[in-house]
Amino acid sequence: MTRHLIIGTGVAGVSAAFAIRSVDPVAEIVLIGNEPDKFYSRPGLAYMLTKEIPEKMLFSIQAREFAAQRLSLVNGVVERVDPQGRSIFLRGGQRLDYDRLLFATGATAVMPDLPDIDLKGVVKLDNISDARRIIKLARAGKPAVVVGGGITALELVEGLARRGMNVHYLLRKDRYWGNVLDESESRIIESRLRHEGVTLHFHSDVEALLAKRGAVSGVRLVGGQVLPARLVAFAIGIRPRLSLARSARLEIDRGILVDEFLRTSAPDVYAAGDAAQAYDPNSGRHVLDSLWNPAREQGHTAGLNMAGQPTAYVRKTAFNVTRLAGLTTTIIGTVGGGRDDDLVGIARGDSEVWRDLPHAIACQTHVDVNRVRLMVGERTLVGAIVMGDQTLSQPLQELITEQVDITRVRTALVGANGTLSGVLVDFWKDWRQSRAN
Ligand SMILES: Cc1cc2nc3c(=O)[nH]c(=O)nc-3n(C[C@H](O)[C@H](O)[C@H](O)COP(=O)(O)OP(=O)(O)OC[C@H]3O[C@@H](n4cnc5c(N)ncnc54)[C@H](O)[C@@H]3O)c2cc1C
Repeated sequence: MTRHLIIGTGVAGVSAAFAIRSVDPVAEIVLIGNEPDKFYSRPGLAYMLTKEIPEKMLFSIQAREFAAQRLSLVNGVVERVDPQGRSIFLRGGQRLDYDRLLFATGATAVMPDLPDIDLKGVVKLDNISDARRIIKLARAGKPAVVVGGGITALELVEGLARRGMNVHYLLRKDRYWGNVLDESESRIIESRLRHEGVTLHFHSDVEALLAKRGAVSGVRLVGGQVLPARLVAFAIGIRPRLSLARSARLEIDRGILVDEFLRTSAPDVYAAGDAAQAYDPNSGRHVLDSLWNPAREQGHTAGLNMAGQPTAYVRKTAFNVTRLAGLTTTIIGTVGGGRDDDLVGIARGDSEVWRDLPHAIACQTHVDVNRVRLMVGERTLVGAIVMGDQTLSQPLQELITEQVDITRVRTALVGANGTLSGVLVDFWKDWRQSRAN
């Protein structure tokens, strides 16, 4: 009987386990995770912070479903992997041998290099324990400081604002998420935040954390200004967890390098999810994502391969539907460029490929807060951002993902302005019709 070990009980690890079982009814499948709460929705943590959903709604797979699939769950920390001996070692010394092994170890929030970073009240948002800690610390009417960029920083800002805190949001440059959003999009988000009572501080950075009786009491900014704070939250980027893979001498770049079958450089060892750096056929590079769907798909594909069903992972166009300052926002394909000084590498809910913009022309339409920005390449659409009204979200996702030739309407799209939506929807309907025939 084949024995599969999976390190990590996030969406990549769990998807792999279910995929193995779908192919092999008798294999032994053991998931090892260091979080006491097994499987939950990480993106859902933001909605738990804003009080929109109760904690229990995050748990979409119940323990009995793991049992029904005969998946064994071990709560523990894997401290060492020995690919030669085909075994792993848990904290406490327990050894488990494997035939196939999956690294689904995810990514972890980067914290700034500041003295006293472990003070009570200094937080990040990586997992459900962090979310519970933040909820415990939040107090209506008290000040909070959020530092960072991307989606998680905004989720922290909004979560704390909804809990009645006076939130100060610090940004290093002059606008929010400048390498994914364009200036108008950043300004829409910023004005909505102000409307929610958030104070934005541009060109700002923390120089020191201030403490009183063992807990954070505020921050001193570069330049000397002091902001009092009961809670200081950092969301300055994430890094794949690589120490185990490094000590096992797997090939690593910014993540664990995998081929199209999600195989690492060691025999019978696979990697998937936020920890893996997978091949992107569009850019011809290995890229990092921190996105739920790619993690799920990679986990599933790795599982099939581990179970002996060779399946190539075909990376799809990076896609995320999220909420920025209460505004539903879909990001598809490549939409921005350059670097964001508020982030180290990428953030949660982010993809490196969003910033690899090839030659493309931006055209947009804008009604009130509803906004669509298209990145139009020579023959195809390469990316889009849809904010507010989501009517165009599905057509754009299909046209970009399928790399539909838009030559026929390119001129009309680029010059469309106010009629962009109409041109696009008509073209999409024609394309669907021709595909159906
Ligand atoms: C607040 C937040 C908001 C997000 N928003 C979005 C969004 O809007 N859209 C989107 O697509 N994605 C979003 N994401 C990202 C998405 O949740 C991740 O891409 C996805 O969960 C990654 O899954 P994974 O299985 O690779 O890793 P993880 O879910 O991180 O799971 C890895 C697990 O392995 C465990 N582990 C690591 N090392 C060891 C070890 N040595 N021993 C034992 N266990 C170990 C970890 O503790 C963890 O439980 C968000 C994430 C967060 C936290």
